[in-house]
Amino acid sequence: MAKHTVTLIPGDGIGPEIIAAMCRVVEAAGADIEWEVADAGAHLMDEHGTPLPDYVIESIKKNKVAIKGPVTTPVGTGFRSVNVALRKALDLYTNLRPSFSLPGTGARYDDVDLVLVRENTEDLYAGIEFEEGSADAAELIEFCAAKGAGTIRPDSGISLKPISVTGSQRIVRWAFEYALDNGRKKVTAVHKANILKHSDGLFLREARKVAEEYAGRIEFEDRIVDACCMGLVLNPANFDVLVLPNLYGDIVSDLCAGLIGGLGIAPGANIGAECAVFEPVHGSAPIHAGKNRANPTAEILSAILMLRHLGEEAVADKVLAAVSAVLAEGASVTYDIKRTLTGSTDGSVGTAEYADAIIAKL
Ligand code: NAD
Repeated sequence: MAKHTVTLIPGDGIGPEIIAAMCRVVEAAGADIEWEVADAGAHLMDEHGTPLPDYVIESIKKNKVAIKGPVTTPVGTGFRSVNVALRKALDLYTNLRPSFSLPGTGARYDDVDLVLVRENTEDLYAGIEFEEGSADAAELIEFCAAKGAGTIRPDSGISLKPISVTGSQRIVRWAFEYALDNGRKKVTAVHKANILKHSDGLFLREARKVAEEYAGRIEFEDRIVDACCMGLVLNPANFDVLVLPNLYGDIVSDLCAGLIGGLGIAPGANIGAECAVFEPVHGSAPIHAGKNRANPTAEILSAILMLRHLGEEAVADKVLAAVSAVLAEGASVTYDIKRTLTGSTDGSVGTAEYADAIIAKL
């Protein structure tokens, strides 16, 4: 019997191709993993009536660990997003998105080593929305006017931004515990508390309280989100662990991906008290699907996070060394990296050939 059973969600778009590349690399590196395939995505709608069949949640609950490819959010089906639904169903309240410089990416910086911790369950992602022109929106607009809370134009759509004490405390505590466990020195809380006093203001207040518990062990600072973005672009080496509410976390993590060379190399994980689901930051990139073009690095780096989570540090180190060696050599890289390096995609290799080059370095 394999040492670990992991739920495998290939997803759609470029998902199946980058997942296949990742599985081959992880297996060649010697990880003792049995993949339990439990797919999700719009292609399951006809058979199951939902892009997220129950067996996916059941498989993850049983195995505790999953790795997934990206999943397209179907438009106009009434289903918001497989990704958001998964995070909610399993209460995966932490979205971990490390950004670190790799050789040979042509990125603007070569000294980035930061970890972004994004709250994954509330904020504007709570999905509480009122459509423009609806009776509910009108009622809410009336309520706000009656309470003297402010005037909202009658032709407005409204999305609510709930941020709780519970949600803020647990994500900030998670960031500090991560910092302690991983030899990090500083946590930066990112917010817009000067404007959004009752949501971001609460987040900052709770972050400060939690930070006191770690005083003398981990440094703490806070930054307003706009100034933080400028600071990241000016000098990313100033940052260590960032903790952010959901929406800023989503936006700032793409900015951080840009600092290290793009979405093709940005890994991630969704982590809860019971289960963890590893996945790249990027989406299903439909225009590249089925063409053996996509860069599987982000998926492979997500697998490295998974291997560390499983306690397979040696295999994780081995895979990271092989990926770094292939990128540093620059002879077998995918179109996105080649284009950054040379301005042209000429001489790039496909998803599968890139995986072969990594395997040859193991
Ligand atoms: P995207 O990340 O899929 O792609 C944007 C662009 O980035 C692509 O066109 C491509 O040029 C580049 N890119 C992304 N990944 C790449 C890779 N591995 N290799 C090379 N280039 C890559 O973003 P999008 O187009 O806004 O979203 C497409 C779909 O993905 C949407 O339906 C969205 O909802 C979904 N999505 C899913 C997830 C997830 O499953 N976790 C995350 C984000 C978006």
